[in-house]
Amino acid sequence: MKLLINSIYLATEGEGIHIGTPQVFVRFQGCAVGCLNCDSKDTWDFTQEMAMNSESVVERVVELSGKIKRVSITGGDPLHPKHEAGVQALVKSLKSRGYYINIEAAGTRVVDELFDLLDFISFDYKTLSTGVSTRLQLIEKMAKQYAGRFQVKAVIETRVDFDQTLKAYQDLHAKNDLLPFSWVLTPSYNLNEAFPLERFKNVIEWNQEAGAPFRVIGQQHKWIFGPDQKQV
Ligand code: SF4
Repeated sequence: MKLLINSIYLATEGEGIHIGTPQVFVRFQGCAVGCLNCDSKDTWDFTQEMAMNSESVVERVVELSGKIKRVSITGGDPLHPKHEAGVQALVKSLKSRGYYINIEAAGTRVVDELFDLLDFISFDYKTLSTGVSTRLQLIEKMAKQYAGRFQVKAVIETRVDFDQTLKAYQDLHAKNDLLPFSWVLTPSYNLNEAFPLERFKNVIEWNQEAGAPFRVIGQQHKWIFGPDQKQV
């Protein structure tokens, strides 16, 4: 089976609550979500030139990971229907070798057959700055089916983004039947931008004023290597 792969690399990173966790990233090539503030637009094209055999992908993961039996599947959009069969095959193969597997999901789809196999799902809540919207029913479904195995992550650029995310949080948790789960706010740090200190401080302050329903966690690799550096 052929998979469209942008890159495979080992890094000490991780989204949201996985910050600082060394793992191998398998970045799929191809995304049709179209976030306005996407920092990986090079992953959008479903270019067949980046096709790799699934066996070669697994071999590369095993080679890079050594004793670190953790993998994050990311993109692009690894949950696009064009990637679905390939991601399933990859996950099954890596699980049979004892890997802990996380997926970075765009929040546009819940794919039960795949999510049932995974150890963790980082599920995006898309804010106004992204130009994309997330259906709250999907987060509700995640909370009911994958309790303890997922986080919601929202990228915050403006006060409007924060208020929108707070409203989503309040609307969902007003329903008493949902178990608690982590919501992570990631202040945006855009390509070609100096470290946005004021934005970080603002998001921290807004969260405190709201009673701290969220964890505020940045993208550590951008502080260390700069916002434009890939595969770190
Ligand atoms: S889902 Fe991810 S890769 Fe796709 S446009 Fe949005 S941020 Fe970029």
